Formats: sequence, structure tokens, C-alpha cells
Amino acid sequence: MERRTLLRRGDTVRVIAGRDKGKSGKILGIDAGRVTVERVNIIKRHTRANPSRNVRGGILEKESPIHLSNVMIVCPGCGKATRIGRSARPDGTRARTCRRCNVSLDQ
Ligand SMILES: [Zn+2]
Repeated sequence: MERRTLLRRGDTVRVIAGRDKGKSGKILGIDAGRVTVERVNIIKRHTRANPSRNVRGGILEKESPIHLSNVMIVCPGCGKATRIGRSARPDGTRARTCRRCNVSLDQ
């Protein structure tokens, strides 16, 4: 089952648990309750050279996904990791807001 999340690709998040606790970066992708965050949870993949596909052998460093619950969005207004609230805009659409300072998290 797809878990609902208010996080979106491109959001800046901070890692709040795990090996990369304290790091922050942009969300590169979201899938099945997990997010891939730039420069977070880097794994080394040992790849074999494959000349026909123009792949160089060696150790490739790559982000791997971490669980949604281990990240929090960073508010552009107060700069803190925060939970996400929802509020109605004057035009009736719903915006994500910072629960600390009520600044909109959407442009
Ligand atoms: Zn804020």
C-alpha cells in the first residue's frame, strides 16, 4: 500500500536518525515509503567494466533510499527541521506550511 506523505521531490530535508543523522540535502526521489536524498546514505557499488555498454569498472558511489520517517523537511523560513501542516490559501488551494513558523513550504 502506498503511504501518503507530504514530502515532494526537490524538498530540502534533514536526516534525523541513522548513520547520516544531521545531514541535509534535496530529495532526489520518493518510492514506497522511502526517499533518496542527495549525498545521504552513500553506498559503494563495485561494478565490473562492460565495454559494450561503455561502463567503467571500479567502485561507484551512489545514494540509496532511506525511510521517510528518518527525514524531516527543512523550513526555508526558520531554517529548522519541522513537521508539515496544511492550510488553505485564499484561492482555495491547499498549501504545506511549517508548523513552527507557518511559512509556506510551497512556492
Ligand atoms: Zn519555519
